[in-house]
Amino acid sequence: MSDKKPAMIQSERGSVFSVFSEEELKEITLDSGRKVAVSGKINNPGIIDVPNGATLEDIIELCGGILNKSSFKAAQLGIPFGGFLTKESLDKELDFNLFDEKTTRTIIILSEEDCIIQYAKYYIDYLLGRMQEGSLDQYHEVENEIKKMWKILDRMSKGRSNMRDIYILRTLAASVKEKLNQKYNIMEEIIDKFYHEIEEHIDENKCYTSQCNHLIKITITSKCIGCGACRRACPVSCIDGEPRKQHRIDYNRCTHCGKCISVCPVDAITAGDNTFKFIRDLSTPHKVVITEMAPAVRVTIGEAFGFEPGDNVEGKIAAGLRKLGVDYVFDTTWAADLTIMEEAAELQERLERFFAGDKKVKLPILTSCCPAWVKFIEQNYGDMLDVPSSAKSPMQMFATVAKDIWAKENGMARDEVTLVAIMPCIAKKYEASRPEFSRGLNYDVDYVITTTELIKIFQDSGIDLKEIECEEIDKIMGEYTGGGIIFGRTGGVIESALRTALENMTGERIKNVEFESLRGWDGFRACEVEVGDIKLRIGVAHGLEQAGKMLDKIRSGEEFFHAIEIMACIGGCVGGGGQPKVRKNKEEVLRRRGEGLNNIDRSKDLRVSKENPAVQIIYDKYLDHPLSHKAHELLHTKYFVRPKKGHDHIRDDER
Ligand code: SF4
Ligand code: SF4
Ligand code: SF4
Repeated sequence: MSDKKPAMIQSERGSVFSVFSEEELKEITLDSGRKVAVSGKINNPGIIDVPNGATLEDIIELCGGILNKSSFKAAQLGIPFGGFLTKESLDKELDFNLFDEKTTRTIIILSEEDCIIQYAKYYIDYLLGRMQEGSLDQYHEVENEIKKMWKILDRMSKGRSNMRDIYILRTLAASVKEKLNQKYNIMEEIIDKFYHEIEEHIDENKCYTSQCNHLIKITITSKCIGCGACRRACPVSCIDGEPRKQHRIDYNRCTHCGKCISVCPVDAITAGDNTFKFIRDLSTPHKVVITEMAPAVRVTIGEAFGFEPGDNVEGKIAAGLRKLGVDYVFDTTWAADLTIMEEAAELQERLERFFAGDKKVKLPILTSCCPAWVKFIEQNYGDMLDVPSSAKSPMQMFATVAKDIWAKENGMARDEVTLVAIMPCIAKKYEASRPEFSRGLNYDVDYVITTTELIKIFQDSGIDLKEIECEEIDKIMGEYTGGGIIFGRTGGVIESALRTALENMTGERIKNVEFESLRGWDGFRACEVEVGDIKLRIGVAHGLEQAGKMLDKIRSGEEFFHAIEIMACIGGCVGGGGQPKVRKNKEEVLRRRGEGLNNIDRSKDLRVSKENPAVQIIYDKYLDHPLSHKAHELLHTKYFVRPKKGHDHIRDDER
């Protein structure tokens, strides 16, 4: 675990107020002159001498203006709990009396890209972290109120609040103000000045900045030039629009696959961006941030730093994440092995019953780690929901074990750990916000950062993967086998499941674990696998158009498979919507990324998931055996029929 949080993070998304050291802040606060530390959504954060008569607007100009040419939203004066200025104050001379004598001489600039609820949550997190490290003694008297405020804001950010919460917030703010004898109270000011935005979160479950990840939908923004590329690429034809006009998405049919995002030439489509939240969390004192990274991220992220597609840079990612301040860097691939333990056991159980003549057994069985695919079957094949394995995806299995077992072993409650998943995938953002993957309001995965988002964070922070020395991934949830790593390419999940299931069924070690018959690039492959006396017919599809064709054939009885694998993206997760865009030779690049995973597999001594000793430990200590009662409670989920409600076109300006 890193022993200290980084002192400064400045990025394209803004700077956080730990940009300044304690000493600097104390010095300028005691200074009788006009020095002020400015941070937030400005181009050049820093300590400036405010000229006599300068307005807030002048100060923003002195700091290089607002980031991304966005508009000014608010300025917070003084930490903690200083005054709060809005647009009306922009052209007024800055009144130094607004700095409370108990607060630091700081100004944090918020732009229209900032969600007021997320800002307030972060602010309280920061305050609580400082209290935990022994600063701000006077605030202990109001600790209860502050914690209650955070819980209310958390409810608002997750669409689980009601208007009474605003009244409770006001009461708590008034209590803090009175007990601490404050001139200003930030919460009171936020409620007064941003009532409409708070109301939108509560009444409409809407966060216009797309920062509240539980309220986000894939949205075509006003940047759209109406080129139609997304409409042509959407595998379920749920985008429409006229040429040169803003297009729109039918959310009843959208699977969150992210294909539209990866083809949009002007980045007009958003699925929400939590990168600034990540930066803020990393700089919050005493916040424990852990990451998991999907198998396919390590063979693609290097492309942005001069590596070839398929080069494995996992050690460099680990080093980069630690440099940013991540406390524990773990690996989703470990949980891919765990997923196989459960999926292979289910597959074995169904196959053994089938071969014994049980006519009721449901086949094919389906791998279930792709959330876009899961949403697709829920929306379109509600009669076939007994087909998918009930095993959670590796991302969700990792998160459950991390929060319910690992955190406890390390003396922490679930909500004391912030779990960030680094994924190749847009649909994982949606999967992380499915309520079945939470305990109360604490979600197993707090939020998802995509490969491309992590590239931007590294670049903004001056971290060059080409230069940085490799570091190890943290144990034990970082150890994986070759069977786990091939999850990232088409055919990999079913190949991995068969390695474990067939060894268990035959009682013999498989000599060649590379099932060539399952590999290939055709969108829909019908494959034969033969090991000993066991002959299996396996279906593999990548891309949802092909998935639909496969399911139709199964439903009509035209095809029979013992097991199937479907990945929504072409090539599997190496071609995910959150991966670096490929402009030329797409198929070749995706194949090289996939081959990179195959090479990692070949380099491993252990290539069958059941051999992973770090997974065995979890069974020995907590879960007994695959499909046990405890394993079911922790590692399995349910699927739901999602009937279409007819067309429901919503543009971002209508949300
Ligand atoms: S996310 Fe996928 S399904 Fe949804 S609109 Fe985009 S391309 Fe279509
Ligand atoms: S959202 Fe992007 S890809 Fe779709 S029509 Fe608009 S500009 Fe083209
Ligand atoms: S194939 Fe992988 S990247 Fe694509 S939607 Fe499925 S899980 Fe996400």
